[in-house]
Amino acid sequence: MSQHADHAEPFDVLVVGAGPCGCAAALTLARSGVRVGLLDRARFPRPKLCGGLLTFKTFLALEHIAAIREPDLEQAVTARTANYHLYYQDRLLRSGRASRPFVLVRRERFDALLLQRARDAGAVQLLGRALECTPAKGEVATAEHGLLRARFLIGADGVNSRMRRALRPDKVRWHAGLADAVEIRAPREALPEPLRHRQEPSLHAGFNRTGYGWIFPNQDDLVLGMCGLREARSLHSSFFGMLDRFQVPESLRRPLRGHPLPYGNWLPRPGRGALLLAGDAAGIVEPTLGEGIFYALTSGHFAALSVLDELQGRAMADCAYMQRLARDIRPELRASHALRRCLLPLVNRFGQAPLDLFLKLGGTALAQMVHGERSYWLLRRKHWRWD
Ligand SMILES: Cc1cc2nc3c(=O)[nH]c(=O)nc-3n(C[C@H](O)[C@H](O)[C@H](O)COP(=O)(O)OP(=O)(O)OC[C@H]3O[C@@H](n4cnc5c(N)ncnc54)[C@H](O)[C@@H]3O)c2cc1C
Repeated sequence: MSQHADHAEPFDVLVVGAGPCGCAAALTLARSGVRVGLLDRARFPRPKLCGGLLTFKTFLALEHIAAIREPDLEQAVTARTANYHLYYQDRLLRSGRASRPFVLVRRERFDALLLQRARDAGAVQLLGRALECTPAKGEVATAEHGLLRARFLIGADGVNSRMRRALRPDKVRWHAGLADAVEIRAPREALPEPLRHRQEPSLHAGFNRTGYGWIFPNQDDLVLGMCGLREARSLHSSFFGMLDRFQVPESLRRPLRGHPLPYGNWLPRPGRGALLLAGDAAGIVEPTLGEGIFYALTSGHFAALSVLDELQGRAMADCAYMQRLARDIRPELRASHALRRCLLPLVNRFGQAPLDLFLKLGGTALAQMVHGERSYWLLRRKHWRWD
């Protein structure tokens, strides 16, 4: 099929949301010659609140889905290290070296690069146009352009998705598994020692009861953040407790930016008929550490492959999508969720001892689990598939 230029005509597929998930979906479809429109309310590069930490499996996904290798991301990469530290509050429990590096990126640049790849592959960009209402029968209404039509719709419009409303998910379950996340970005020269010279990412348990804090290094600044389910003590006060402990000056605590994060509330059925949801919109985020970029790329790609299955007469898109998720993603989400539900109550009750034990038992395999070389399910070897 030829590249589609006139969006007054219906698309084969309309992808709503041009973050990593939407770009992966649009890229996969455009490469197969499908007429695909990629709609986003933002113009790119657009800001996106994110720690920007990429694991090894994210690079596997980028290579399989978008033929992107690390050198292609040069403009976006701000730091790269295999070393990491795990703390109970500000007490160091373990310093380790993973077999693969953790790569930190600026999301604005990373997302813009992915979008460029989708456009180069032939996806038609429809930027600066917000989806205005819940889609029905292959149609979406946008602020500026009235109705857009497509045979299939892929909802990749993030955690506050409007597309999700069309699937009428269980609201109670959704909100029960929704976390808040907050971050500040602090210039190194304004930070006290020893924080100022941090070169390696660290994770901090024990500052809040339903999540964790992080400190990620970039070349010129550090990102300090925290996520957690909504609870009696506000995330802000837990986060300020962490900042106090590291003596982060008051002047660096603003602007404090926050965003919701799916944290164990993935949708049991993220597709119905010709509408598939992926990435944050479907709650597909790993529920212990909140890693979402890999899952956005992979689920977006799976949604696209499943649409191709139906267009080419092999299977119904929604069934094929469910099968792919069940094969590769669901088991990881479930196992990670179980891990969080076991570990956090123990840490809340007994402090650092259970965490210490967990780190001793897991050993070096834990970093491999985060990188995706091992599964969250009993640390078994993990082989990802993108077919
Ligand atoms: C504070 C914080 C830190 C994080 N740190 C990390 C990390 O270090 N590593 C990691 O892997 N993950 C991290 N995550 C998670 C990660 O950011 C998300 O999981 C990931 O961005 C999801 O990608 P997505 O494409 O599904 O959604 P998004 O990246 O949110 O993209 C959704 C797109 O949809 C568009 N959109 C929304 N509504 C509409 C509408 N009505 N009409 C048109 N367009 C619309 C938006 O403009 C946006 O471009 C973090 C999240 C938070 C909140």
